[in-house]
Amino acid sequence: MTRSRPFIIPVFLPHAGCPHQCVFCDQTSITGVHRKRLSKAQLRALIDRFLKYKGPRRKQVQIAYFGGNFLGLHREDIRFLLEEATQFVRQGRVDSIRFSTRPDTIDEEQLDLIRNFPIATVELGVQSMDDQILAMARRGHDCAATIRAVHLLRDRNYQIGLQIMIGLPGDDPSRSLQTGRRIVDLQPDFVRIYPTVVLANSLLAQWYRKGDYIPLALATCVSLVKNLYLMFQKADIQVIRMGLQASEDLEGGSTLLAGPYHPAFGHLVHSEIFFDLAVLALKSTNVLGDQAVISVHPGSVSKMRGLKNENIRKIKQQFHLKSIVIIADSAIAEDNLILSR
Ligand code: SF4
Repeated sequence: MTRSRPFIIPVFLPHAGCPHQCVFCDQTSITGVHRKRLSKAQLRALIDRFLKYKGPRRKQVQIAYFGGNFLGLHREDIRFLLEEATQFVRQGRVDSIRFSTRPDTIDEEQLDLIRNFPIATVELGVQSMDDQILAMARRGHDCAATIRAVHLLRDRNYQIGLQIMIGLPGDDPSRSLQTGRRIVDLQPDFVRIYPTVVLANSLLAQWYRKGDYIPLALATCVSLVKNLYLMFQKADIQVIRMGLQASEDLEGGSTLLAGPYHPAFGHLVHSEIFFDLAVLALKSTNVLGDQAVISVHPGSVSKMRGLKNENIRKIKQQFHLKSIVIIADSAIAEDNLILSR
């Protein structure tokens, strides 16, 4: 199901409000923004600049404070950032505000502080629902903090997004899936799934260099994220991102040391889902032949083909087919395919 997404104006506040640095984190590398407090003029100019890119089809507009621990900031800084964003809402140019924060920053007092601002969405950096993994990542909170935070946010009618990480130290596929199930129990409005990569300025980089941490291989990570995606899809929880944002810093290789990073990570996951669907359909047909015709929604053609036609190549090989024809058909659901031979 395709749901309309808001137009997001991202304001990155790398490490702002963080009580310490979690083992995997180097926000400066991830966002490509180097830490500096934004002045009123800079903030307004940044938002103005982004507003020019808003297409006519996007109805909802949100200013988003990302990249740090928003409610860990000083109260004056929280008020300053929210008041500035609220000006744009009052002018009718923006609809609402969102931010990301740690679960342990959500309590009645903080929620009272922000209650009169037009905030629609709060994202929590959950990372894992396994206390051992959280301790190894030096997060400084447990999963009970996440459960508490979700309940408090829900009581106040915020839209809730939960971010999780796959492949942290101590993690394994069954623990990742267990985190997925516990997230489903919390029924957030959406999730983001991030593979753990080794960033140069993180503590994880030191562990990696000493051989104490081995990141997931890309193919393993894609399959694991696929299983989580399908779990969330079944529970009607939207997955709004899989994989890190492609940024010049990460692509340049200067800050990414190792790990399952791919600029089109989400596409790889969707391609594997379509590969599985095609294999299932081909296995359950009795009609023999050397050609298969697969019809999919026009928006799913590249997912069916896979990166560089990889799915086509693998399916041909596995089923000894001479050719596979892909037909775009808008009558077919975006997450389905129809096979004819
Ligand atoms: S993961 Fe979040 S809380 Fe931890 S250092 Fe990074 S931005 Fe701060």
